[in-house]
Amino acid sequence: MRVIGMDVGGTNVRGAVVDGLGQVLSFTEGKTPRDSVDSLVSAVVEMVGKLRSDAGGPVEAVGLGFPGLIDFKGGVVRYSPNLPMFRDVALAGFLRQRLGLRVFLANDVNVAAIGEKWLGAGKELDDFALLTLGTGLGSGLIVGGLPFWGGTGFAAELGHLVVQPDGAPCVCGDKGCLEAYCSAGGLRARAMSFKASGESSIMWDMIDDDEDLTPQLIDLAASRGDAVAIGLLSDAARYLGIAIAALADLVGIRTVLLGGRMVNMRFDISSAAQDEANRRSICARAGRISVSRCELGDKAGSIGAARYAMACLNG
Ligand SMILES: [Zn+2]
Repeated sequence: MRVIGMDVGGTNVRGAVVDGLGQVLSFTEGKTPRDSVDSLVSAVVEMVGKLRSDAGGPVEAVGLGFPGLIDFKGGVVRYSPNLPMFRDVALAGFLRQRLGLRVFLANDVNVAAIGEKWLGAGKELDDFALLTLGTGLGSGLIVGGLPFWGGTGFAAELGHLVVQPDGAPCVCGDKGCLEAYCSAGGLRARAMSFKASGESSIMWDMIDDDEDLTPQLIDLAASRGDAVAIGLLSDAARYLGIAIAALADLVGIRTVLLGGRMVNMRFDISSAAQDEANRRSICARAGRISVSRCELGDKAGSIGAARYAMACLNG
């Protein structure tokens, strides 16, 4: 069996042809077009076409991970804070028409968690959360060995858990969400607000424009002792730990896997968040919470999307 797993993120689109054993037969990636629904759909269609021709045999279906609130049964993107042009878009149906293949759509981090459970750091675990710190902050849960969708299908939107009432503005329109502190987009927005308020930092001389305020640049400035950068990353880890404590106490999990581009930095967000979570969680008093890195890296989403499609095909 060969299926294509596609992983649409706020910044990149990745895709892989995966066989029934989990071998990645080919892999491709590109930037996420953010100007319209049509341009993103066309980019996905083009990538699937390329992957199909590289597949070396027939492809049976496409699994597609997409950020935001996904009606996975109906194949509809209901709301996507980081790709706001997608509001009640029947994406699976559009793609099925264009591709002539069955398309199974689900939340991007839920499928990444399925990938980590299948082949990665979650292989031996029945209960864990996967949090990805990318453009936004996504999360997925595996409970009792299976993906946990909740009654709404939207379970585990930890990125928009409010960790600071009346705190930093979030892309969703609320204030003080975890994502506003602990994601590439949130860090950039907070850094820009410090810059606008005249705070002094070496970062302002390290950038050509505000788009350059990436987690990696903030990390570099922090390693040089910059107080604003250290404050931004310390806040990110602290609020992440607070949210993990809430998740652990609510769901009864002890293992959290972190993915995304903020986990391989000099500033060790994983262990700082782990310390904070263990200080905050009541359940941690009966057994420590572990926060570690996921294993499949930037392929977790596409491998998981492929696995999700295989599970759907098999009923
Ligand atoms: Zn929010």
